[in-house]
Amino acid sequence: MGKYKTTGIAARFGARYGSTLRKRWRRVMEEYKKPKVCPKCHTVGKVYRIKIGIWACRKCGAVFTGGAYTTVTPAGKMAAMKASMAG
Ligand SMILES: [Zn+2]
Repeated sequence: MGKYKTTGIAARFGARYGSTLRKRWRRVMEEYKKPKVCPKCHTVGKVYRIKIGIWACRKCGAVFTGGAYTTVTPAGKMAAMKASMAG
């Protein structure tokens, strides 16, 4: 035991899903938690996710797609996890 210290916020998944998947999840979530910059009004921290791959800005109301989150190609298991955490 004690081997989870490098998994950070993914540690809650314990030994499930395999280390590669957990590391990928950790990277995704760390990216997801970073404040996003609105490409329209450039406000930082007002951008939120409507659904996977679609983001909106609370300040100017812009809706746009993209973000590092969507560049990851997840396993179906990962997609299910994301869906369960959406909203
Ligand atoms: Zn904006």
